[in-house]
Amino acid sequence: MIMMNPLTLRSVLAAGLCAATALAAGAAPSLADFQARAERSKLRLELPDYPRTTDEIRDRTTSALQAADAALLELTAQAATRATFASTFGAFEEITGRVSTWANRIGTVSESHPDKAVRDAARDAGQRIDAWGIALEYREDVYRVLQAWADTKPTLDAQQQRLVDFTLRDYRRAGLALPPAERQQVEQLRKSLSELTRQFDVNINEARAPLDFTAEELAGVPATLLNSPGVKQPDGRYRVMANITWHVSAVQDNADNPDVRRRVTVARGQLAREKNIPVLSKMVALRAEVARRLGYATWADYRTETRMSGRAAVALKFEEDLVKGLEPKFAAELETLRQLKAAHTGQADARIEAWDTAYYTNKLRKEKYAVDTEALRVFFAYEPTLRGMFAIYEKVFGLKFTQVEPPYVWAPGVQLWVAADADSGDPVGAFYLDMFPREGKYNHFAHFRQNMGRALPDGGYQLPVSVLLCNFPPPTADKPSLLSHGNATTLFHEFGHVMHNLLGRARYPSLNYAGVPKDFIEAPSQMLENWVWNKAVLDTFAADYRDPAKKIPAETIDAMIRAREATEGMSYRRQLSLGLMDLGLHTLSPGDAWTADVVELTNAVGARVSVPPAPDTAFVAYFGHLSGYDGGYYGYLWSKVMAIDMASVFETAPDGYLDEKIGRRLRDEVYAAGHTRDVSESVEKFLGRPRSQKAFLQYVGIKE
Ligand SMILES: [Zn+2]
Repeated sequence: MIMMNPLTLRSVLAAGLCAATALAAGAAPSLADFQARAERSKLRLELPDYPRTTDEIRDRTTSALQAADAALLELTAQAATRATFASTFGAFEEITGRVSTWANRIGTVSESHPDKAVRDAARDAGQRIDAWGIALEYREDVYRVLQAWADTKPTLDAQQQRLVDFTLRDYRRAGLALPPAERQQVEQLRKSLSELTRQFDVNINEARAPLDFTAEELAGVPATLLNSPGVKQPDGRYRVMANITWHVSAVQDNADNPDVRRRVTVARGQLAREKNIPVLSKMVALRAEVARRLGYATWADYRTETRMSGRAAVALKFEEDLVKGLEPKFAAELETLRQLKAAHTGQADARIEAWDTAYYTNKLRKEKYAVDTEALRVFFAYEPTLRGMFAIYEKVFGLKFTQVEPPYVWAPGVQLWVAADADSGDPVGAFYLDMFPREGKYNHFAHFRQNMGRALPDGGYQLPVSVLLCNFPPPTADKPSLLSHGNATTLFHEFGHVMHNLLGRARYPSLNYAGVPKDFIEAPSQMLENWVWNKAVLDTFAADYRDPAKKIPAETIDAMIRAREATEGMSYRRQLSLGLMDLGLHTLSPGDAWTADVVELTNAVGARVSVPPAPDTAFVAYFGHLSGYDGGYYGYLWSKVMAIDMASVFETAPDGYLDEKIGRRLRDEVYAAGHTRDVSESVEKFLGRPRSQKAFLQYVGIKE
């Protein structure tokens, strides 16, 4: 029996019809109405049942892991002759899906619960789940049963086949397909590797480089640095820490004295050098060894296998093509900065050094492209911005969002919304919004997936649920919450992840949003950032909250675009140099990897692709991405370029960024398809052509 709130009940009774009609008639439907509606269409709209106490977190984690272990025991103990897809790979997906759903819930609690004890308990529980997951990767008994069943060459449909392939691939990648002795060697190497990686991170975290300057030397540096606690020393000088990024930026962007900028840049470039260069050299060699033993030519080939690029050579070509494509813009921007320096120093043959780029870029922005971004906040009051974004996403993706009364929220002010298909009225999923800062809450902006879409054994479908944790500026006594343009961009981006999770319709969770390759997952959201730079889109909601007739002037938007474009050639070439350093280190053969000079190799890439590094520095010793994003740094640009390519389809559509036909295609071909087929195929089906870097080059300002 479904409970309904009085308002809906009344309208249902009056019409003598079902809740679906009440929905269509415009009454405010409740969560229960949506759940009943879902049930009739064989959909299940369930909300996460969040644990609320430390005991509950601990006990329910224990029972979740015990239940998973019991199910694994059943899986491994079954008679091979009676095994089916459902009792092998289906069961494995079910077991891991349940544990990850619990992990998602725990992860959200640890980032959002107002009570510190509850957050800490959730963090501990998260670590237990992680350890369980790692142990599962090495479960030979599980792997044997799965492999044995796959060896019977059963007839499978496309989604089942992918699930089988990916599951076995992951076990193969963990070394389980190797003979026992070789597998042990790989495990040993991986243990040493993880110890080295840990050491690399520790050395980065512990590196310190204080430099003391007089007030005169720091001319131009903003007071925010000089007055910051701990900066002013008893002797009257000011201490800049080269290991604190914002200290370094404050000096590099603003210090008029080139020698001060040089000293800080050099100190930055020498951080962790003595300790980390030997560590990194060994990491690179061990990675090459592990890759070879697992059957890959290089570590980057191993790392990219599960990505969209698939092979190191593809990622490398992508980066080198972009280096070339950006060359005219990069050269022109560098020359602009050089002329600025020549005029500023009076030396006609001035050259841009590593410690000049940030300084002259900042000067250029201030002198030529000044946009008062603070003044734009009045156009982005939180409520109208949120409603405006909803209206746009509703139109583009054919949806309707309705706020409902949540049965439980972890903090006051958290909202629950149901997304429904605009045509059928069927719910497609639900999302929570937790949008303002709070003591102890996660302090960035992020999407957390909760329930994942999946087919149910009874033929129904479990609908996905998402959470957004954001930290927009809270309203004050006399002003509403006013977002910056950057905040508004973030909102469009993060809500793109909600859409990606909610609209997936794969049968298995790991073939939905959760499973798409890491170098793709940001692309749809990066694409949606473009909406906030478009006058037609902005005019639908961005208006001065004190006088809604006032819109953002076209000249302001143009000026913002010109400011963004002004130095993108240089900043993307810098990103490319980092991606190519990473790929350079991780495409070495095992033989070369043992003898490579990691500093020489990476500094040479920097000099070729970006501005040459300061002499006697070793940036790579402090390049934290090399643990965790190794072989994957290229992915930032890979997805960005794809995002701009995808956005260009909207740009040429009759209704531009608000075009429903293109939006529908995006929903069907990209979001709904999830990882049920290769994403490159989905993206090209959406584009209606092969992928290209052309739109990206135009976006950075290379006009043909
Ligand atoms: Zn994102």
